Amino acid sequence: MTSTAADNDLGSEYEALLSFMYLSPVGLVRSDMDGVVDMMNPMAAQLLMPLVKGGGLSNILDALTAIAPELRNMVSGFTGERGAVCENYRLFIRPAKTQPVVLSCSLIKVGENLLMTVLTDISRQVVAERRVQQTESWLAGICTNINDFAFFTLDEHGQVEAWNSSIERLAGFSPDDVVGKRLDLFYGLDQERGGRLLQQVALARDDGWHMEECWCETKSGRRFWGQVLVCVLREDAGEVSGYSVVIRDTSERKVTTDNLERLLTTDHLTGARNRAHFIQVAEAEIARAKRHARPLSLVMLDADHFKAINDTAGHKAGDEVLKHLVTEAKGVLRPSDVVGRLGGEEFALLLPQTLPQEAVAVAERLRALVEHAPVEFDGQSLRATISLGVASLSERNDNLDDLLEAADRALYEAKRSGRNRVCVVGIEEVVNETIPQDETSKR
Ligand code: GH3
Ligand code: MG
Ligand code: MG
Repeated sequence: MTSTAADNDLGSEYEALLSFMYLSPVGLVRSDMDGVVDMMNPMAAQLLMPLVKGGGLSNILDALTAIAPELRNMVSGFTGERGAVCENYRLFIRPAKTQPVVLSCSLIKVGENLLMTVLTDISRQVVAERRVQQTESWLAGICTNINDFAFFTLDEHGQVEAWNSSIERLAGFSPDDVVGKRLDLFYGLDQERGGRLLQQVALARDDGWHMEECWCETKSGRRFWGQVLVCVLREDAGEVSGYSVVIRDTSERKVTTDNLERLLTTDHLTGARNRAHFIQVAEAEIARAKRHARPLSLVMLDADHFKAINDTAGHKAGDEVLKHLVTEAKGVLRPSDVVGRLGGEEFALLLPQTLPQEAVAVAERLRALVEHAPVEFDGQSLRATISLGVASLSERNDNLDDLLEAADRALYEAKRSGRNRVCVVGIEEVVNETIPQDETSKR
């Protein structure tokens, strides 16, 4: 290669280097070791602009003195022939009226009296870092100070992957107990564990998150009402990489809600449903029975000569009789049947999936039980009887009002014809007399 060709090559390399410097997205400043600038690129000029008050930038170390006076000492104290005086040193610039700017600054000695300053704007990164730190400190606060939370992550198969001390505090499980185990470890043994887990994970996968409440258990077997939130974690490509889970012990709230619900739906004295709630449940059951063309019956019952019981034994004794009636009624009914107190000493029994003749049989059993089981109260043996009227869902009586009215007519007939008896209306009008065998067998 001739010397001219070599010169040309060197020339074009130098030009390439210059244009790299010119276009570079980082700020580059060349100076001597005292900071006297002989070259800098436009990005450096832009980044350092807030530090240069009037006029150009002739000395980089002077310019940086305002925010990092230690840099000059670091440069003068650098004894190596070449190398980094500092790397990624953070400089905080606070331009008026705008967000703080954070520069990352590296000072590199590249020759005997040659210093390169490399500047990068890392303001956004710093904001993001702060956000992460903030979130971490919140999480650490929750993790160490709030007792009724546990949070952890599951891998894509639903097994506990990452844990923290909150699990131990909430549920008493140590890391060895949970890592690699499935989320349903937390669910009470009476919960349908595997199925519930699969369903939760599938719903979270579809919707991004899923929350439900169920009975959970601590390691020692203490039950608590848990609110379980499962959120999907995805890779950038969108693939599910796992799930984050938060379990909260909401037992106290559940107790309050349950109490409130009981207060709103239950009759104080007897524990039967109150009138408003009975009507609500009955309407829903009637709609369901009609939808599936299933039978349904309603029994109305009223204590006989109850006024006389009150008058002779006292109001409290009367109350005991009412409680006894409801206990006896619940004893002859299925769990899906409903007892409601419609008022005073008048009750209604809602019997879904029950034909008229079956309802009559139930009513008769209850009548006989009440008649033959005296109520012991305060040293007295109280004898009570009841009259009952039975009506069933039919073409004529196809809504609650008509059913109640029909049962009331039957009850009136029972009273009129001597009390302590069961009367029935509407057998001939019944729409559907078939009933699944497994249901009839429960009667
Ligand atoms: P009948 O056989 O015709 O039904 O006669 P009865 O005396 O049962 O009917 P009546 O309607 O004349 O009286 C019902 C009584 O029930 C009057 C009321 O004081 C009493 N009663 C209503 N609610 C309660 C209650 O919560 N506790 C008590 N102890 N008595 C009640
Ligand atoms: Mg009465
Ligand atoms: Mg009455």
